[in-house]
Amino acid sequence: MARAGRPEIARRQFSFDIAPVGPDTRPVPLPPDYHLHTPLCRHASGEPTEYAARARELGLSEIGFADHAPMPEDDFDRWRMPLAHLDEYVEKVRRAQREHPALIIRLALEVDYLPGQEDWVRDLAGRHPWDYFVGSVHYIAPPWAIDDPAMRSEWRKHDPTEVWIAYLERLTQAVESGLFEIVGHVDLPKKFGFLPQRDLMPLFQRLMRGAARRAVAVELNTAGLRKDCREIYPSRALLELAHQEGVPITFGSDAHAIAEVGADLEQAVALARSVGYTHCCRFAGRLCEATRF
Ligand SMILES: [Zn+2]
Ligand SMILES: [Zn+2]
Repeated sequence: MARAGRPEIARRQFSFDIAPVGPDTRPVPLPPDYHLHTPLCRHASGEPTEYAARARELGLSEIGFADHAPMPEDDFDRWRMPLAHLDEYVEKVRRAQREHPALIIRLALEVDYLPGQEDWVRDLAGRHPWDYFVGSVHYIAPPWAIDDPAMRSEWRKHDPTEVWIAYLERLTQAVESGLFEIVGHVDLPKKFGFLPQRDLMPLFQRLMRGAARRAVAVELNTAGLRKDCREIYPSRALLELAHQEGVPITFGSDAHAIAEVGADLEQAVALARSVGYTHCCRFAGRLCEATRF
């Protein structure tokens, strides 16, 4: 038999059989990190192939680049790739794939959802064989991006509760649009600590029900731990709600630098498990496959 000639495999299987008695302490593989940026968005550093090398060092088996997608107008803001760089973006990801064949590397975009731009998102979707789109809301009233540190003072000019309500309205539209596989950082307005002054759970419930119905995954985004809110997006209460409603999940570091690849994924995994999740989504060609984590 073929196996008799491969004693190293037999040995590995044997050691696997004698698992320690008591709690399972074997290291658990980290889930895919599906939210990585590149320098083409003009506020991140490190080449995709360097991110991939870091991911391999960490023992990740799968990552995905989801850089800020172009807008129809290149001067919309200063923190995304211009349309002319889209092909270069794809080529950088392809190079990372070529140089790290042992790692699964997905090609994706983080797309801003703005009502009226649905055709633009469909246009982008047709340009390359994407694995998934992360739909995010950073804008309620452009040019104010609610998470932009340079525009933080705008928050003082608004009622935070009203901002949250408008944000959730738009995020729910994004989920319902059918344009995205993943919804990004669902409680992003908490970033600087401006919290709603009344219970918005009914709005979050509407969002999560829409996500469940459309099979749009909510991402556990660890960047929140690195911001003033010091908390993963979404909060535990919102993740519990997502789980109750049957919403799938993904994981992402939202890395804008090599050192942030895979950041705090263990903590995100612990949070997801503690609310009852056992599976997350993997995406290829915009189709989801559930995988254990
Ligand atoms: Zn960014
Ligand atoms: Zn984002």
